[in-house]
Amino acid sequence: MIDSTEPVVAARPGVLAGLDHWRTLPIDQQPAWPDSEGARAAAAEIATMPPLVFAGEIDQLRTRLAAAAEGRAFVLQGGDCAETFAGATADQIRARVKTILQMAVVLTYGASVPVVKMGRMAGQFAKPRSSETETRDGTTLPAYRGDIVNGYDFTAESRRPDPGRLVRGYHTAAATLNLVRAFTQGGFADLRQVHSWNRGFAANPANQRYEVFASEIDRAVRFMEAAGADFDELKRVEFYTAHEALLMEYERAMTRIDSRNGTPVDTSAHFVWVGERTRALGHAHLDFVSRIRNPIGVKLGPSVTPDELERIVDLLDPDREPGRLTLITRMGAGRIRDALPPLLEASKRFASTPLWITDPMHGNGITTPTGYKTRRFDDVVDEVQGFFAAHRAAGTWPGGIHIELTGDDVTECLGGSEHIDEADLASRYESLCDPRLNHMQSLELAFLVAEELTRR
Ligand code: PEP
Ligand code: MN
Repeated sequence: MIDSTEPVVAARPGVLAGLDHWRTLPIDQQPAWPDSEGARAAAAEIATMPPLVFAGEIDQLRTRLAAAAEGRAFVLQGGDCAETFAGATADQIRARVKTILQMAVVLTYGASVPVVKMGRMAGQFAKPRSSETETRDGTTLPAYRGDIVNGYDFTAESRRPDPGRLVRGYHTAAATLNLVRAFTQGGFADLRQVHSWNRGFAANPANQRYEVFASEIDRAVRFMEAAGADFDELKRVEFYTAHEALLMEYERAMTRIDSRNGTPVDTSAHFVWVGERTRALGHAHLDFVSRIRNPIGVKLGPSVTPDELERIVDLLDPDREPGRLTLITRMGAGRIRDALPPLLEASKRFASTPLWITDPMHGNGITTPTGYKTRRFDDVVDEVQGFFAAHRAAGTWPGGIHIELTGDDVTECLGGSEHIDEADLASRYESLCDPRLNHMQSLELAFLVAEELTRR
């Protein structure tokens, strides 16, 4: 079925059987499709559709991530906790891309380091949940697992996993990626536009600092133009996509054989990661990603031990190839300073050069008395600072940051220079899943990260 669409080069012997080995293993966090025949048919349909990204782009990203693993670049990954189909509008996509580009400008200019830009976008539709079900006012229904599985509305009809959503997920990812490619290649990302990215945002300390950077960049760009320099790097940006490889049928259906060398690549995104809740050794997710050629990530929470880490590295990066494996730590502000150092020391012992990225969001969740899931901006900053301190002490490179953000002025995380407090959360809380930094909090964080990078 899936691989009959690959006419050019056959897979290497054993590759196809290997790609389906996960089916024989314990598997976590998958929906119980009421219509399993429908799910199979949807996966078969997706398997015949064009790839969303190309193997050559994936190789290029691996090279960029290798530079970051070796201390020559910094990675910025950001986007929604859960993208929604309704949220795939031009305005919202533009605002998110713009926020990431602005953060990248702050980091590149503020810390003089090349920044690899990656959206948690164009495929971040599936969510792991802590409970299979949700109960409201005595009614129990399946938990919301992301738009690619079921609907958020609390009705039996909407919460029923619907295989038609797999196909819609593919099309929504394709439309999103198309616009992302247009924005990043078609002039919008031209560095001569840095001022215009800021238009429409109220006066605020983070914006004012950004404006100062933008003016300085303007002058530098005008100088280069006057001197006759005209290079592509000013007009276009490389922008990569990433999401959690959670829904196994979807990721398997998007996996194709690279016609150049017979190896499998997951063409749903340039980069995919396995989350904290599905990273068990001997289970389906790690086995599947061990067999694809994409650069891959694994989220690590505070319970991971150096031994477990070594086994994860042996499975996913047996050749110790910089750029192949990214370790995304999400320890919590209170734990990062104890939990990260032993992992950094261990990775030196087993001769691995992973790319270390901090996710300062997922270890810092709290629920307010009024029932909002939120995070304190100060805890996010504290975890970032702990991450940098641990790397300074170990002599390893703090290679990047992974955050949940939106380009809109939502009120989902507490604090920041706008002093969002508990009472403000109600005014614009839009996330269907975890709380995101808003546009301003994201820019502020970028300045703080740039400061940490220059302290090295
Ligand atoms: C997420 O990235 O939205 C997520 C669920 O993260 P984690 O696997 O770290 O909990
Ligand atoms: Mn999340």
